[in-house]
Amino acid sequence: MHPIVIIGSGLAGYNTAKELRKLDAATSLVVIASDSSSFYSKPMLSNAIASKKTPAAIALNTPAQMAEQLKGIVRPNTRVDAIDTAAHTLKIGEETLHYSKLVLALGADQIRLPITGSGAADIQTVNDLDDYARFRTAIEGKKRVAIIGAGLIGCEFANDLAAGGYAVDIIDIAQQALGRLLPPEGGAMLKDKLTALGVQWHLGTSVQSVDTANGAYTLTLANGATLQSDIVLSAVGLKPRTALAAAAGIKVNRGIVADRNLATSAPDVYTLGDCAEIEGMVMPYVMPIMHASRALAQTLTGKTTAVSFPAMPVMVKTPACPTIVAPPAIGAAGSWQVAATADGVKSLFNSADGKLLGFALNGAATAERAKLAPQLPPVLA
Ligand SMILES: Cc1cc2nc3c(=O)[nH]c(=O)nc-3n(C[C@H](O)[C@H](O)[C@H](O)COP(=O)(O)OP(=O)(O)OC[C@H]3O[C@@H](n4cnc5c(N)ncnc54)[C@H](O)[C@@H]3O)c2cc1C
Repeated sequence: MHPIVIIGSGLAGYNTAKELRKLDAATSLVVIASDSSSFYSKPMLSNAIASKKTPAAIALNTPAQMAEQLKGIVRPNTRVDAIDTAAHTLKIGEETLHYSKLVLALGADQIRLPITGSGAADIQTVNDLDDYARFRTAIEGKKRVAIIGAGLIGCEFANDLAAGGYAVDIIDIAQQALGRLLPPEGGAMLKDKLTALGVQWHLGTSVQSVDTANGAYTLTLANGATLQSDIVLSAVGLKPRTALAAAAGIKVNRGIVADRNLATSAPDVYTLGDCAEIEGMVMPYVMPIMHASRALAQTLTGKTTAVSFPAMPVMVKTPACPTIVAPPAIGAAGSWQVAATADGVKSLFNSADGKLLGFALNGAATAERAKLAPQLPPVLA
């Protein structure tokens, strides 16, 4: 019998393996990943600078420890080049590896904007532990960091770097912080609190070029302004990794297309995590992975199990302004009702008949999470 093979050693890959082992100690299991395959919690990467956490402190287990724990094989720094879904094989260079069932837990790439200039190639992104190690080395001894993107990850890094003593500039084409998750009042509170930490904002504009001179960077913005920085970090969103699946003839759309059983269009091939589009939804967060990995483990042991997703509020790690968001489903009909006080903003997204479909809570209003979350409809019943 060929092994179950999981491609990817992020939270999706390793959690599926862990859940599988709770149900089945015997089936042979191989985890293959192109990164260094330490087990770590990715959300920690955007709040580790101020607390001076080293990459080694973030890595909870080495690949060898994971192999032991999973009673399987873990192959770090190993890129899968191709999948033959008819033959149930993978290509790793010249090597051919057979699988009985295959899990694609490939994650997502950071989107790179078309920025010109002699320093454009030096723009950093942080999407895994290896990136964090590079970024941490790069900022060592530096003072100024420019962040492109004021979304969830950009704002978290802005808070963390400012709290860590760096001078932070943040640039976003939107007119507000966290524009896709917060109504304007909530965005304004987050912006004000981060400003109080020293963050400088450049909203409603974009970065056109990044040029380097004397070890520093000059960013030229679309509005004509320029600013100087020692490091440039881009955090403008993620793009599910679909190329490997698409080349194998597996159906992809925004992500690798999966049904409620996390099955792709190819027999015995499943997907979850940041690379997946499950029932039309791309959900690049931890909680969907936890639910999906539990369901998928059952399916991999022969008990086909559909995934259900409850409402899954996301905590934004901006301690300067605690923020929790549970955005309404894309296209949901309704409107925001916003109540702002001196120390918090409560934003509720209600349908015309008064049903709560989403919320965004800032500051003191985050205390209402426990009361509001159970009122939300499930993401996938
Ligand atoms: C800085 C940051 C902060 C975040 N904070 C939060 C938060 O607070 N709350 C929250 O819910 N979510 C947060 N997220 C999102 C969350 O961390 C991700 O949704 C989750 O970690 C994704 O896990 P994954 O396993 O799908 O992908 P990844 O962790 O990206 O793993 C993908 C794996 O696939 C491997 N791979 C890809 N292609 C190949 C190939 N061809 N061959 C072999 N291996 C391959 C990679 O090497 C890697 O091991 C954050 C994300 C970031 C970047």
